[in-house]
Amino acid sequence: RPLKMTLEAQSAAIAARFDYTDEQVNSAVNEFRRQMTEGLEKDGTSLSQIPTYVTGVPNGTEKGLYMAVDLGGTNFRVCSIQLNGDTTFNLTFSKVAIPRDLMVAKTAQELFAFLAKQIELFLQTHHEDHFEQHVRRRMTMSSPDGYKDEHVFRLGFTFSFPVQQVGINKGTLIRWTKGFDIPDAIGKDVCALLQDEIDKLHLPVKVAALVNDTVGTLMARSYSSPGKTGTVLGAIFGTGTNGAYVEKLSNLKKPLSGEYDKTTGEMVINTEWGSFDNQLSVLPNTEWDVALDKASPNPGIQMYEKRVSGMFLGEILRLVTIDLLKDPKVSFFKDENSSSNDWKSTTNIVSDSSIYTQWGLDTAIMSVAAADNTPELSTLRGELEKQLGIYSAGLDDAQAFKAIANAIGRRSARLSAVAIAAIVLQTGKLTDPANADEPVDIGVDGSLVEHYPYFRDMIYEALSAIDGIGEEGAKRIRIGIAKDGSGVGAALIALVAAGME
Ligand code: ADP
Repeated sequence: RPLKMTLEAQSAAIAARFDYTDEQVNSAVNEFRRQMTEGLEKDGTSLSQIPTYVTGVPNGTEKGLYMAVDLGGTNFRVCSIQLNGDTTFNLTFSKVAIPRDLMVAKTAQELFAFLAKQIELFLQTHHEDHFEQHVRRRMTMSSPDGYKDEHVFRLGFTFSFPVQQVGINKGTLIRWTKGFDIPDAIGKDVCALLQDEIDKLHLPVKVAALVNDTVGTLMARSYSSPGKTGTVLGAIFGTGTNGAYVEKLSNLKKPLSGEYDKTTGEMVINTEWGSFDNQLSVLPNTEWDVALDKASPNPGIQMYEKRVSGMFLGEILRLVTIDLLKDPKVSFFKDENSSSNDWKSTTNIVSDSSIYTQWGLDTAIMSVAAADNTPELSTLRGELEKQLGIYSAGLDDAQAFKAIANAIGRRSARLSAVAIAAIVLQTGKLTDPANADEPVDIGVDGSLVEHYPYFRDMIYEALSAIDGIGEEGAKRIRIGIAKDGSGVGAALIALVAAGME
């Protein structure tokens, strides 16, 4: 059976192309630290290192009722959060799909009026007491600003598009992404756009903070994290990847435009690490990474993200799979009875399988592959059939698919360890005597880190091989999921902002 031998050998050889050695991990950490420092000193660098004007993290004793809204992609989420002051919270939540026509509306006002309307509906449904009060006040007062302070809901606005933040509740839109396109909004302060529409409805709501989702993750984890030291890093490994961490003000050399509290000596920095090493000095670059980038809407940028996050891992695997399917020397998902000359017809894959189209392989199936330890790989083979229309896949086909998928997942985890390690080293917490024996806490969020089997274990394995961390250091790094990060985090930043008013 020479052909079968070829598949096993071939898949092993491809998997090896995704190896990222301890040595490579170490040089990437050094480069990451160099790019971090550069980003703290000037604008226009690979890592943007955006100052957030948030100057501290919570410790779990914070209290109060806050609102949070999240405009990130397909849905608009509105919630209220009661912080109980004992690391716990209660969350009330609603979600609405954003009408497609508003994503490409003529004016920003149309979109933001819709958002304000959702806030009004939420108050009506879940906070009738506040709402009633506001209606009564509206009847008796001429000015919407005439509310008593204690009746005003502070709101944290999570806005997951690139913004130039210039204050804790001020930031101008740089560009739209994810299918939004309202040119009129570019360059405008998104908080003011939302506040204007809220005021038109006379709602007792103040847009107190503009929040990046990674900063929300950091804050949420720090509030609910056990132990006495705050969280140092919040990181997302979902559709995309990014992280925000606590930096010493003395390291932040770029000029800051807005007001902020200088007493803590710290500021949360949004790294925008998806664009780490766009110049590819230390990132791996297989032919499939090259092909993915070339066919992407933004070639040459977000190069780290394109090797790490959920949106891209499935696509790398898809490109490898297609190459193997096309190779006449390899028997991969082959229909052994076919003698066609067209490579597609020689496979046992339905002709309209999404595997033939860009982004057509969901990273979730890599989790299935990694988790399937049955001798026949029956779960994986079932999913290949269900999701991709791959019929009667042989055990050797499934094993080859799994070997390659695992290699891509493992490389992603080891690359994730690079960013985490660089930031842990940057904080100096592992060697700080004041922090001796305390864990270094990290909050994470996103489907990849939550659902991909052994993702965190693979991160830890890489961390223990990093100079300055090692096995002892890795044991002190505590990576935990930040629950409901976007809502709770935004509420906490609204609280911080209220303290600065
Ligand atoms: P977002 O980052 O958009 O808020 P998620 O954290 O849910 O949303 O991430 C979605 C991404 O995670 C998608 O790219 C998807 O392919 C991937 N994904 C979803 N489920 C899984 C899973 N079980 N294992 C690995 N990746 C997954």
